[in-house]
Amino acid sequence: MYCPFCSATDTKVIDSRLIAEGEQVRRRRECAHCGERFTTFESAELLMPRLIKQDGRRQAFEEDKLRAGMQRALEKRPVSLEQIDAAIGRIKRKLRATGEREVPSRQLGELVMSELQQLDEVAFIRFASVYRRFADVSEFRAELDRLAHSPAAQ
Ligand SMILES: [Zn+2]
Repeated sequence: MYCPFCSATDTKVIDSRLIAEGEQVRRRRECAHCGERFTTFESAELLMPRLIKQDGRRQAFEEDKLRAGMQRALEKRPVSLEQIDAAIGRIKRKLRATGEREVPSRQLGELVMSELQQLDEVAFIRFASVYRRFADVSEFRAELDRLAHSPAAQ
């Protein structure tokens, strides 16, 4: 592939490893011409089901949007990008495993919440409070109290 710095065509792979639980290959490349190094990511383009919104509109699955939403919930939390990528990989696998061409967007929301719950409870609460729109305030309150008293909460 072209060097992004000098556009030379002669770049070589100097390191290659699997990330996101084997769903992606990360390659370090070096330009033979200018010597600059850069990273490329490669993953299989697999068809994801479309999402059915609550009002019935259909929407394409957008991984960038999903990642942005999770990163927003995980802001300043001790969770690495690799952990987020792994979680996204699992979410995509589960959506594909439904075998459906269209799934309710709520189903994606539930998958995200269960991943966030494993990764970080604060992020889970942030996401859930927006996403699920807790049935009523007392339910939200109860969840916060539960977390405040759990040993993991700081
Ligand atoms: Zn170059």
